[in-house]
Amino acid sequence: MKSPSAAAVVRLILGDQLNSQHSWFRAVEPDVLYVLMEVRQETDYVLHHAQKILAIFAAMRAFAAGLQQAGHRVAYIAIDDPDNRQSIPANLEWLMGQCGAAEFDYQEPDEYRLDEQLHAWCGTIAQATRMAGSEHFYTRRDDAARLFEGRPKWLMEHFYRHMRTAHQVLMDGGEPAGGQWNYDHDNRQKWPGLPAAPRDIRPLHDHSALWAVIEGAGVRSFGEPHADHIRWPVDRSEALAQLDAFVKEALPHFGQFQDAMSSRAWRLFHSLLSFAMNVKLLSPREVVDAVQAAWREGAVPLASAEGFIRQILGWREYVRGVYWARMPHYAEHNVFGHTAPLPHWFWDGQTRMRCMAHAIGHSLEHAHAHHIHRLMVIGNFALLAGLDPKQVHQWYLGVYIDAFEWVELPNTLGMSQYADNGTMATKPYVSGAAYIDRMSDYCKGCHYDKKDRNGERACPFNALYWDFFARNEARLASNPRIGMVYPQLRKMSPEARQALAHKAAQLRADIEDL
Ligand SMILES: Cc1cc2nc3c(=O)[nH]c(=O)nc-3n(C[C@H](O)[C@H](O)[C@H](O)COP(=O)(O)OP(=O)(O)OC[C@H]3O[C@@H](n4cnc5c(N)ncnc54)[C@H](O)[C@@H]3O)c2cc1C
Ligand code: SF4
Repeated sequence: MKSPSAAAVVRLILGDQLNSQHSWFRAVEPDVLYVLMEVRQETDYVLHHAQKILAIFAAMRAFAAGLQQAGHRVAYIAIDDPDNRQSIPANLEWLMGQCGAAEFDYQEPDEYRLDEQLHAWCGTIAQATRMAGSEHFYTRRDDAARLFEGRPKWLMEHFYRHMRTAHQVLMDGGEPAGGQWNYDHDNRQKWPGLPAAPRDIRPLHDHSALWAVIEGAGVRSFGEPHADHIRWPVDRSEALAQLDAFVKEALPHFGQFQDAMSSRAWRLFHSLLSFAMNVKLLSPREVVDAVQAAWREGAVPLASAEGFIRQILGWREYVRGVYWARMPHYAEHNVFGHTAPLPHWFWDGQTRMRCMAHAIGHSLEHAHAHHIHRLMVIGNFALLAGLDPKQVHQWYLGVYIDAFEWVELPNTLGMSQYADNGTMATKPYVSGAAYIDRMSDYCKGCHYDKKDRNGERACPFNALYWDFFARNEARLASNPRIGMVYPQLRKMSPEARQALAHKAAQLRADIEDL
């Protein structure tokens, strides 16, 4: 890139900080140089899905172009730029030297590794440094820790009610709108095929040229790039249009079918807005406000509005609080001591388990799978089969378009793998085939028999489920949320328990061939 001319201040914008509404951009300041950079440091910290790399770079490029059009000065370091040192500090050092800046500013990073890296680098330079807020979230990093101070369990429901009250969302004065905090009970239905699944409301892009640059630079990836018809928004206007279409077309049915899965509709009534929100094209407030307004106008039922808002005002802010309270050692938790490597079909989707083939298939095809695929299919199997939670975390961090460590790690390691011994989840989220059959159409037509536990074609989830609880009786039997599992196990004959343990061991040994 061309050496930048003199600037008093260099301001870094990370790839997930594409917030055009940030106060930094309110006025054009000729002495300020904004810098965005595509670096191997960021493409390579785990193996990423091709669409994730493409979508982030495309959105960064669009953001830089938008800033320039608005009159701001921008330095953009592309992945194939000969001056690119491929690390954020090395590029900053070079750039600060080139333009003789006296000050370096950055926005609060959301990932611990970047927070540490930038903080450490700032300690090494002579220039003044300043960290600004990201102006994105409802809460500060440590708000959840403060709310839960002295409490042994961090219950999301407590946090959520606090947020609803503090921000007056779906409230009538001091009471929850409709008299209930939670409509989960109405929100657990299987999808029978009607109402029809909404159209894919995302924009369509041809990023073939950018993909050629990324590949040419030697960046490794997995999953389908679909570079010539990729569907993730690159700018704020596209993200706003997607939000609008979601509220009109899918939100009315979101609540009812939020846990459903179907081989006929991979997305069902979910919003696919996580990418736009996590790279900050959209703020959580405007999403929540749009949903609340649609409910107040009578366009969506309260159960849908509440179910959706709970995810953003509740879960999204809560997991961020868990992340900042638990780092830096959170990723090391492995309470069950699971060590098995991921089988090949996490990378190619080739398994005879129909539910897993679909859930992993969507992930590889779209860089996305919805919550129940992530939690109750892929995560469920990983925990039952004893896969190494760190490897599971790295796979989730790589594969999903919306995966940034602050939100992915607590969800994967805590919520789905229970590796933190229940800091986040009140019980391990596991099931046998019965739950998957209740919420989907996968079991019909599967190679395996959903009702069988021990036979040749028995559904692998079944024996693994009973064996998981049998193996972990000392740790889990006293958990009141586990309900009937242990009484049922105790009713089994020693031979039946032995047969399940034998079958489970065989499944774990043959995992590559399932
Ligand atoms: C094991 C596992 C890993 C996950 N990893 C990620 C991740 O890396 N990034 C990510 O954004 N979400 C993650 N989630 C949460 C959730 O699955 C995704 O946010 C959701 O599937 C995104 O699709 P959507 O936008 O259509 O969501 P919708 O179902 O339409 O939900 C609306 C929004 O709510 C928020 N949300 C919903 N559930 C959660 C949650 N549990 N935690 C935080 N925010 C939530 C998201 O911003 C989402 O866009 C994970 C969940 C699990 C169980
Ligand atoms: S039978 Fe078992 S493996 Fe097959 S789809 Fe159902 S739960 Fe999945």
